[in-house]
Amino acid sequence: MEQRIVIIGAGHAGVQLAASLREAGHRGPLSLISQETELPYQRPPLSKDYVAADAASEPLALRPESFYAEHHIDVLAGATVDSIDRAAGFVTLSTGAQLAYDRLVIATGARNRPLVCEGSELPGVYGLRTLDDARALQRRLAEARRVVVIGAGFIGLEFAAAARNRGLEVTVLEYAPRPLGRAASEPLSSWFETEHRSSGINLRCNEGLEHIEAHDGHLQVISTTGHGYEADLVVYGIGVLPNTELAAEAGLSCQNGILVDALLRTSDERIYALGDCANFPLAESSERVRLESVQNANDQARALALTLTGQPAEYRELPWFWSVQGKHRLQIAGLSAPADEAVLLGDPATGKFSIALFRGGVLAAVESVNRPADHISARKILSGGTPVTMSMLEAAASLKELARSAPIPA
Ligand SMILES: Cc1cc2nc3c(=O)[nH]c(=O)nc-3n(C[C@H](O)[C@H](O)[C@H](O)COP(=O)(O)OP(=O)(O)OC[C@H]3O[C@@H](n4cnc5c(N)ncnc54)[C@H](O)[C@@H]3O)c2cc1C
Repeated sequence: MEQRIVIIGAGHAGVQLAASLREAGHRGPLSLISQETELPYQRPPLSKDYVAADAASEPLALRPESFYAEHHIDVLAGATVDSIDRAAGFVTLSTGAQLAYDRLVIATGARNRPLVCEGSELPGVYGLRTLDDARALQRRLAEARRVVVIGAGFIGLEFAAAARNRGLEVTVLEYAPRPLGRAASEPLSSWFETEHRSSGINLRCNEGLEHIEAHDGHLQVISTTGHGYEADLVVYGIGVLPNTELAAEAGLSCQNGILVDALLRTSDERIYALGDCANFPLAESSERVRLESVQNANDQARALALTLTGQPAEYRELPWFWSVQGKHRLQIAGLSAPADEAVLLGDPATGKFSIALFRGGVLAAVESVNRPADHISARKILSGGTPVTMSMLEAAASLKELARSAPIPA
């Protein structure tokens, strides 16, 4: 209980871990090293409420400032860890300062996959990951009339919808045949595609970015089909790269993230990793995944806090996710891809429906649009441990009824 625990990264995972460690009874020294200078904050609003015209100028803090002192969490803000000395058990900051650990946790998250094309460095071209990015974007948005968004993933579409709500002309370029292709089913993509188009967004699929030019105070985005789109602002959301360099340089095994076991332990038993930077074995499966969600960061932190306080807890939580696109709230329980069958629940024309996705004849995920009750039921069903077949779903009047009969996890 008196061990020195050092956490690198004060995002959702790092902050939740520090809080859960104190809750679980860790009384030893606890340091939280944050590259960013801000009080740790929530990232999801940055592509949603924060883009809105009347956004508050400050985001929601993950915890009030007083929380860290009250819980004796030593926050080192604006500090970057440059290296890990595993043999001696200390980390070195960019200032040269060294910090010894008994247990080290890497929660370094991810960074935007960079745009690689001519013109990607021009003023007016933005990625969106940090509060600094969001503030810069908000300033530029105030003057902008036309926006081009590169990438129709969650962040690109959330931003596009919020910008459209502000009355801007919005074009979205997506090189794949459908939006949200990486994480959502085909029927869901198709519904959002229609919805975004009907709100006035010029959503172009099968059309990627070729390069960006600067012309007399505005930008010109040239697409792979040779079209040119004028813009005052270009925002890209083309995926992220896990921040694994620190771990890899210290000799820890990495492959699409820092490799950890079910206890979130790296190849060094004194070092753990979690959140966006960690690649972990998925419960009840032979697969490994790296997930980018608040649920994953928070739940892994809660499990790891137990392990680090002597109550080893394998990470086995059901993944779930949410996104807000304009007026629509999407919630996904389980992992949508890959799925081989989809069953529609409700009428998409009402704007409230769910899609049940089956893999190998068993319910694997439920995507819900503006149906929060379905989402809650789906989480109960999917974490209940009983495989649900299509005939079981058809026999039940609703997901709610199915959830009632499913064993509910503690
Ligand atoms: C705009 C946006 C919207 C999103 N919306 C949603 C949503 O609606 N729903 C959802 O579930 N998820 C959403 N996400 C994803 C979610 O925010 C991430 O999954 C979550 O932040 C992961 O937490 P993390 O702590 O692992 O990483 P991060 O939040 O990335 O935090 C990692 C921290 O570590 C710091 N760091 C990195 N290297 C070092 C170092 N060497 N030394 C010191 N510090 C370091 C970084 O600067 C960063 O502050 C969104 C993300 C973004 C960017």
